[in-house]
Amino acid sequence: MLGESGSQISKVNSLESACSIMKNILNDNHTDIPYALIYFVEHKLNYDGSESSIARLITTTFDEDGKKERHFPDYFPKTHEIINLTNVDQSYENYINLRRASTSFSFIKCDSWPLNLVIKNGNHIKVILKNDSQAVLFLTKISLGGEKVLPVILICGVNRRRALDEQYLEFLQLVTNQLNTYLLHGKKIEEEKLRSKLLVDLNYQKVIFFQGISHELQKPLTLMLSPLEEVINACPQESPIMSHLQTIRRNAHRLLKLINVLLQSSNVESGHSDAKYCKTNIVELTRELASDFVTMAKTLGLDYIIDIPNSEEFNQTVGDGIYLDHDMYETIIFNLCSNALKHTWKGRINIRLYLEYKNNEKMVILEVSDTGVGIPEIALPNIFQRFYRVESQNSRSHEGTGIGLALVKELITLHGGYITVTSVVNKGTTFKCWFPIGYQHLPKNQIRFNNVKSKRELYNNRQLYLEESSQWIKNNISEIKDDIDDLDTDINNTNKMLTDKITFNLPTDMNDFAITKKKYSVLLVDDSNEMRDHLTDLLKEFDIYRACDGKDALRVLKTLKQLPDLVLSDVTMPNMNGYELLDVLRSNVNTQLIPIILLSAKAGEDSKVKGLDKGADDYLVKPFSARELITRIRANIELSVLRRKILFHRCQEEESKQLLMSIANMIFSGLSINETLQYVVKAINHRIPCERVLVISNEQSKSKANEIIVSYENSESVKLITNPFMEINDNSNNNDKRKSQSSINSQEYLNDNSGIEISLDVYCGYVHKNVSILSSEVKLNNDFWGWIKVYRSPNSIWLDSEIELLQQISNLMSLAITHANLLEENEEKEIQIKAAEVADKTKSQILANTSHELRTPLGAIVGILSSFECNSLTTDQKEMIDTMIRSSDIVLSIINDILDSARLEAQKVTLINKTFDLLVLLDDIIENFGKRAGSKKIELIVNCDVDELPRYVKSDPNRLLTNVLYMIKI
Ligand code: ADP
Repeated sequence: MLGESGSQISKVNSLESACSIMKNILNDNHTDIPYALIYFVEHKLNYDGSESSIARLITTTFDEDGKKERHFPDYFPKTHEIINLTNVDQSYENYINLRRASTSFSFIKCDSWPLNLVIKNGNHIKVILKNDSQAVLFLTKISLGGEKVLPVILICGVNRRRALDEQYLEFLQLVTNQLNTYLLHGKKIEEEKLRSKLLVDLNYQKVIFFQGISHELQKPLTLMLSPLEEVINACPQESPIMSHLQTIRRNAHRLLKLINVLLQSSNVESGHSDAKYCKTNIVELTRELASDFVTMAKTLGLDYIIDIPNSEEFNQTVGDGIYLDHDMYETIIFNLCSNALKHTWKGRINIRLYLEYKNNEKMVILEVSDTGVGIPEIALPNIFQRFYRVESQNSRSHEGTGIGLALVKELITLHGGYITVTSVVNKGTTFKCWFPIGYQHLPKNQIRFNNVKSKRELYNNRQLYLEESSQWIKNNISEIKDDIDDLDTDINNTNKMLTDKITFNLPTDMNDFAITKKKYSVLLVDDSNEMRDHLTDLLKEFDIYRACDGKDALRVLKTLKQLPDLVLSDVTMPNMNGYELLDVLRSNVNTQLIPIILLSAKAGEDSKVKGLDKGADDYLVKPFSARELITRIRANIELSVLRRKILFHRCQEEESKQLLMSIANMIFSGLSINETLQYVVKAINHRIPCERVLVISNEQSKSKANEIIVSYENSESVKLITNPFMEINDNSNNNDKRKSQSSINSQEYLNDNSGIEISLDVYCGYVHKNVSILSSEVKLNNDFWGWIKVYRSPNSIWLDSEIELLQQISNLMSLAITHANLLEENEEKEIQIKAAEVADKTKSQILANTSHELRTPLGAIVGILSSFECNSLTTDQKEMIDTMIRSSDIVLSIINDILDSARLEAQKVTLINKTFDLLVLLDDIIENFGKRAGSKKIELIVNCDVDELPRYVKSDPNRLLTNVLYMIKI
């Protein structure tokens, strides 16, 4: 049975059919499972917000085909179709235990099926019925997506002759699993059916919507066009608004054509094609329709060949005649021909009509072939799908919707025919339309045997198609054609282009800039020729460069001598869209500062945020007012100029700061003044582009009147402006400055004491030619010291920042010179001090040596004199000896003093530090001087308050004694 059920799964196509097929399988195996019932447990939300669940009986083995009512055996518990499972408080305590040989089973005896219990337990439940037969309830669940599940209960009867053992239960479980597989499959198929139904519904809604909206658009457009036509006719050709009116008309026509195509296409899809097939002289009709493009092709320089046989012969060969809806056939030819013109730059377009047999059937073939850009092989299978467009084609126009070929195919299908295409890139494309002969294949009610003239509308397709094609003539052909050769090699290389570092020309010469650049320039990137023309017309106040997509924009940028002031780009473009262009421009250092405004038809907040997030400066949604666009362009350019100005000034300030710092460091690094000045002139040349820098000294004291002490000459030719940011010095300013600088020629530049002089065109004897000189005075202690002079070619102006910098540098130079002078003075003083020190030292040495030399003989004299004391000498002799002793004492003390002072100077005096009695010291002094004082009749009084005086002091007693003695002696 299980094997058989595997093969039945393919028949399952819904949840209910899964149950029904399972029931059939079980019916065929009633010995194993005598009966079975399947319940679905469904939840539903009540009106009062509460939830309730019910069990719905889906199928049973008691069901009979064609009979609605089911009859269950008497021994069954209550078996309702719908069982309410909410708030049913059943207790199943009535358990019965059955003992078998080895195991015992527990069964529930019940009045109704214990569905709630199975759901609650999740496990199978065995029940015993009124006739003591047994049944088992199994639960299986199917996921309904998300958290939703569908619980399914399978009730299986048990064969009374078999014991409900493990094996039997296992078998029943397998059957339940099988049911689960069926249900899952059924669910999947149901979901798929639902999805495709939804899609069909959606598609239908879309078609209806297209029809509705196209009708709604068609009406006001037509109403708008007729008064417009009148205004154009009434307006003189040379009127300034004429070009605007023409643009309005062209675009209204384009819109009308698009709406017509959309309407036609949705009519066909919804089956309301309203076709009228009538027997047609296809040769004549094709020739007439194809001829409409002859002039166009000629103007575009293409060979246009209508290769159509003789009408009579052809119609004879056709036999039964060919039935066509004329409007549809017109759409087919116009689409194919205008596509051929759009995608062909040179060569030929061929329109052929001939007969060919296909599967023994004679068919008429309309063939349109060209030698154009071709369609890549990979795109061919999709070419007839609606809205499919081939990316990266270098056609005359990037415009299009991708409906044309899909409509052509549908229209040919309505004629019972089909279309084929063959194409080789850069060689050409051939479309073949196969039409069957006769009318058997056409709906009878749409065949008209009387030739019906189709009603001509005010703006018929022919006019609309031709007008669209005429734009391509007027297009700046070279604009697009030029890049074909470039892009052909690049066509499959978009990614490389995106990652390549692109080098662009930067503005280099400020003079160029000042003279040639009168307007701001804008690079316009849009794939629509019409839009490019319109914007160019609108933005007359700017210099406009044009590009037809992102890739083309990069090519144009590379060829420009000077980068544009702003890029205005559409978002949706083939080859490289606006976002990709933005990425490339922002990732290149040279272009990252160009302001970029994106234009888009996508009005959503998301698109705008995406654009701004990617680094666009502004985002405008089409349609926009001309005034708004111009204001935003101007505002963005001015803002960017301001931003760059600030950036440039910051760079300049930073550079100047660095330069001044480095000069300051030089000054204090101990280099000679000459070396420092050499460094300064080199640094000046680095920051202020010039031909030469001179430092001229005028120090009269050093007889250096007008002497060039340092000079620096620039060997390279000097471009005045080398920094790309220079362009932000706006032109009018520069001209004003030139005027003001020349008017103050050779005069003091500033009114205050700035010490700046500018001579724009003055003869310089030193270089023997006329030059423009910027000089800054160098002062020393408010006295004039000299000049720093910077030379450029005559009539070169000097920027404020340059003047200011030179002034600061000249201040620093004053500092450097003062510093160097101070150093020089200090050096001289030091030498003098050193000489004095040496002399002093020598003097002390001499003194020390002399006193030493004097002491030795004096010692001998004092020694000898003292030896006389005890001998008997005459009074006179004694007095003489005393006098000699006193005198030699005085000499000795003088010599000692000299020695002491010499020692002091040489810092060789060593002091003893000890505690001694001050009174004892004074006693010694009195004793020492008492006699001599007495002889001179001088009273020596020690006047001291012994109690107040600190008697013991810490000092050198000998030094103290010497000092006091010395004072008394004086
Ligand atoms: P549309 O021209 O509005 O984009 P169509 O359905 O007419 O839409 O064409 C679909 C695509 O097929 C176009 O984008 C174009 O790239 C390509 N195509 C159609 N005709 C030609 C042709 N003669 N040569 C090259 N490419 C073609």
